[in-house]
Amino acid sequence: MGPNWVAFKTLFTSLDLDVVVPDPTNREAIKIGVKQSPEFVCFPFKATIGDFVNAIEKGADTLVMAIDCGPCRFGFYASVQERILKDMGYKNITLIPLDQADLLEFHWVKTLQEVSGRRDLFIYSKFVKAIIFFIKKAKLLNDIQTAEGIFRAYERNQGDTTTIVNNLLTKLDEANTLPILRNFKKVIKEDFNSLDIDKNRSPLKVGVSGEIHISLEPYVNLDIRRKLGEMQIEIHQSISLYDWVVHKFHLNYHRKWYGHLSRPYLPMDIGGEAQWVLGEYIDKAQAGFDGFVHEYPFLCMPEVTARTIITNKLKKIYDLPIIYFSFDEQSGMEGFRTRLEAFSDLMHARRNKEIQSNAKFVSNGNKKIYPHYGDVFYNECYQMIQS
Ligand code: SF4
Repeated sequence: MGPNWVAFKTLFTSLDLDVVVPDPTNREAIKIGVKQSPEFVCFPFKATIGDFVNAIEKGADTLVMAIDCGPCRFGFYASVQERILKDMGYKNITLIPLDQADLLEFHWVKTLQEVSGRRDLFIYSKFVKAIIFFIKKAKLLNDIQTAEGIFRAYERNQGDTTTIVNNLLTKLDEANTLPILRNFKKVIKEDFNSLDIDKNRSPLKVGVSGEIHISLEPYVNLDIRRKLGEMQIEIHQSISLYDWVVHKFHLNYHRKWYGHLSRPYLPMDIGGEAQWVLGEYIDKAQAGFDGFVHEYPFLCMPEVTARTIITNKLKKIYDLPIIYFSFDEQSGMEGFRTRLEAFSDLMHARRNKEIQSNAKFVSNGNKKIYPHYGDVFYNECYQMIQS
């Protein structure tokens, strides 16, 4: 899932294992996944089959796949994928499931024992180190994502933000001591501070949310974050690997808040991110955002349910423009770009109308004043841009 290989790599190298990082998801991987998977299965299943085949061809003999108790098809991914890979002739691979239904049940310790092949007492100190490094790197990836979402909307030279992000990922991958990781937030800030920006811009603010695999993997979502940023749109995406892990440790308070907001419309977790997408839509509408992007895989039942609730209920209560993108192997760039441009025009027209009818905005030089929104790191980035 996008840059998150950096955190997963550190989890297993800390256990003295050789890690084979598959190539970034690509056309070839998707082709293999589509050919080998049942036609009706959801798209992330196909994409991960392709990634697994790539890793096996590069020398991996053990695969680790997250599993859950459902409630959607994700509960069956690992066992079906293992059978498909064995049917393809990869008889000697071992697929180890990583139970992430509730991380406080500590089933993941068993998985780490199984992957490391050790059960002696000494290995536990390595588990602790592996988990600390994994969580720290996941948090830093989250910070890079936050900074990228805001800075790209201000960059003068298209592509500079992407270069900074790629350099930071290399540096983070090479950072393998606690003091370096503790200092890494400073490195992120310094690198983004070197970006040539136009601070006089007033970008539109858009919330991006949806199914986790589609939201985090740029190849399958046609690099939507980058496209929006290059259209000078500021992105707020709370979903990340870190966000998910903290949620599974029951410590994610903004997810609890989204769950609270969505409860009248969807009182239970039906899989995917459906429940939190609804809450996030309401939250962003209340925060005065200009738009919302909901992305999900074609045939994803929970996200389609969320879409229906937004269309039939929430849109009638909250006036926040929304665009839906359903991705699969057939997704094409041109129609996608045209729809994004039309959405951007709509948001600009809406904001201009809002400014004209609001004396407070007119006195601010025809600029919309956005209420305070974002976490501590977001606000630090924002101050860097303002200064
Ligand atoms: S969340 Fe959607 S895409 Fe993911 S496994 Fe469930 S149904 Fe499939």
